[in-house]
Amino acid sequence: DPVSKDSGFVMETQCPFCSVQCKMQITKAMPVPGARRYSYTVEGVPNAASEGRLCVKGMNAFQHAVSADRLLHPLVKRNGEFVPVSWEEALNTIRDRFISISEEHGPDAIGLYGGGSLTNETAYLLGKFARVALGTKYIDYNGRFCMSAAASAGAKTFGVDRGLTCRLSDIPLARCIVLAGTNIAECQPTLMPYFTKAKENGATIIVIDPRVTATASIADIHLQIKPGTDAALANGMLKVLLEEDMIDEKFITARTNGYDELKRHLSEVSLQEVAELTGIDEANIRKAAAAYGKAPTGIIFTARGVEQQTDGHVAVRNFLNMVLATGKIGKPGCGYGAVTGQGNGQGGREHGQKSDQLPGYRSIESDVDRAYVAKVWGIDPEQLPRKGVSAYEMMELVHQRAIRSLFVMGSNPVVSNPNANLVEEGLSKVDFFVVADMFLSETARMADVVLPVTAYLENDGTLTNLEGRVLLRETTLSAPGEAWHDWAILCELANRLGKSSYFSFQSSEQIFEELRVASRGGLADYYGITYDRLRREGGVYWPCPSPEQEGLGNMFKDSFAHSDGKAVFHPVQSRLPQETPDEEFPLTMTNGRVLSHYLTGVQTRRSPSLAARSVENYVEIHPRTARKYQIEDGEWVEVSSRRGSFNVRSRITDQIREDTLFVPMHWGGIQNVNKATSPELDPNCKMPGFKTSTVMIKPLRMR
Ligand code: SF4
Repeated sequence: DPVSKDSGFVMETQCPFCSVQCKMQITKAMPVPGARRYSYTVEGVPNAASEGRLCVKGMNAFQHAVSADRLLHPLVKRNGEFVPVSWEEALNTIRDRFISISEEHGPDAIGLYGGGSLTNETAYLLGKFARVALGTKYIDYNGRFCMSAAASAGAKTFGVDRGLTCRLSDIPLARCIVLAGTNIAECQPTLMPYFTKAKENGATIIVIDPRVTATASIADIHLQIKPGTDAALANGMLKVLLEEDMIDEKFITARTNGYDELKRHLSEVSLQEVAELTGIDEANIRKAAAAYGKAPTGIIFTARGVEQQTDGHVAVRNFLNMVLATGKIGKPGCGYGAVTGQGNGQGGREHGQKSDQLPGYRSIESDVDRAYVAKVWGIDPEQLPRKGVSAYEMMELVHQRAIRSLFVMGSNPVVSNPNANLVEEGLSKVDFFVVADMFLSETARMADVVLPVTAYLENDGTLTNLEGRVLLRETTLSAPGEAWHDWAILCELANRLGKSSYFSFQSSEQIFEELRVASRGGLADYYGITYDRLRREGGVYWPCPSPEQEGLGNMFKDSFAHSDGKAVFHPVQSRLPQETPDEEFPLTMTNGRVLSHYLTGVQTRRSPSLAARSVENYVEIHPRTARKYQIEDGEWVEVSSRRGSFNVRSRITDQIREDTLFVPMHWGGIQNVNKATSPELDPNCKMPGFKTSTVMIKPLRMR
């Protein structure tokens, strides 16, 4: 127990394992005489989002933090083996290598790769570190694989991207709820009571998913869609809304642009073709459209099932067209929500760790935005690098040796990127590789230097939950061993790179104070939020432009964020991925989560209680498909694509479409689904097509 130097404690914190950010109290009791272990008790504490509920992940979220696997000292690889070294040596090594690589190949030869679980303060600082301390344009983060489709669609349609445009408390007021590509029952379980309450209140629940998930079990209408065709389905539903006059003309005229163009576009959409493409018959498309169109209130949610496609941006925009056409936004019980996965999936995408972005959702391409942020940072705008590339594109540059050195913080890209074999090959030949992590993850094992960081029980800061509500996570525990806070590592490295005056922060709160100013006047405006206020009020929604103002819970009541105050319809024809099923790779594979794991499992697989619930990876396959490929239940199989293959056990179930396989995403090595996933990117947001990889499956048994 690396935190054993702290005696017993009682602390309130937030679960790190999803975007709900449920509050909890953890009590560590000293061992009683004769007992060999400390005992921990975890209880939910009501906060605005979770109402005191915790799921199994939250109940066991302390276990990885007290795991004996925690890294306690900096490590440097010598002759292929890690050896513990002092911080002095580790940081000087990094400084020297970064300087020499930058001098030899230019500052863009160094890339930074962040994560959506980092606090707002660290995400902000990582963006600043890349641009000010290293002068590189190459920074992006794993949230590219979570939020980019919904974020870009929301920004185009509404003028700003906030996960939920309404509050969670609006859900029970909705009379129709569309859950498109989201398995909330397993991914954000404590939210389920909001939906069951809506159902009790008379709401129709529509679930769009190729699988009969735990969430689909509460659906009134389950559209078991062919993977990758959600954009077409939304267009079909929209056509029905228009044809059957279930639209809000008054809202459309007063609050939107682009409707005539949309109408023209939809006149060319054939419902019969949509039915053939999606695998959903016309009657059910009409039924679902009518349920949403006729309901007085309604909320549409999308998540990775819809978004992780090469057409994910368009799919979300088509669903947003439905929201606008029916005027179901800006009033109680109405809105749109992108159900974020990562703990800080919302805040992590707002403050500059994306390649195209500066703090507060400012654009790195806008001269006005660049000048503002440069002034806050005390640099010349000309010094600010321009836009870099997305996360997977960075991995391609690593593979091509255009990026010669990589610094990864809070992520495990060798498992989480599509086309994992290419990523692993690229990282194995990088000149100098640094990883900051709590554990020797699959990625950390490949590094030249590994820096131990504090866990959520030891590192305070703010996180922004899926509602856009900023929450302060405080802690009283000290770091185990020689682990440092991630933000402190960045400050000290900047210091050694001669940039100390820009990074003289002594606490998360000091970083937040600068973040407030950097975001001021931006779309994600945090200026009115302070640590004191968060302590007093529990949480504050953004935008919050002044300390005297309340944050905005329900967005777009009177106007949208585009300059004329109107939202924009976006009529686009959906397009299929370049790779569709064929003779060689006849099945479509989707990936996703299971209840007891988080991201690539680096933390949850080190929680004995969670790991025991889901020991190994598997592939879900329909009984008829299993018969066709001579696969028996529970046997090891090989799933392969044009990129590579992985081995998992089969799980035969009639809860999935015959043409589809499902594989969880939490395992690395030979069980890593991403060895076979498609790296084709959505041209609008650079989201990979995780949900539409074409594959073949065969048994691994000896013949
Ligand atoms: Fe709450 Fe999500 Fe943690 Fe479960 S995983 S306790 S839903 S924050």
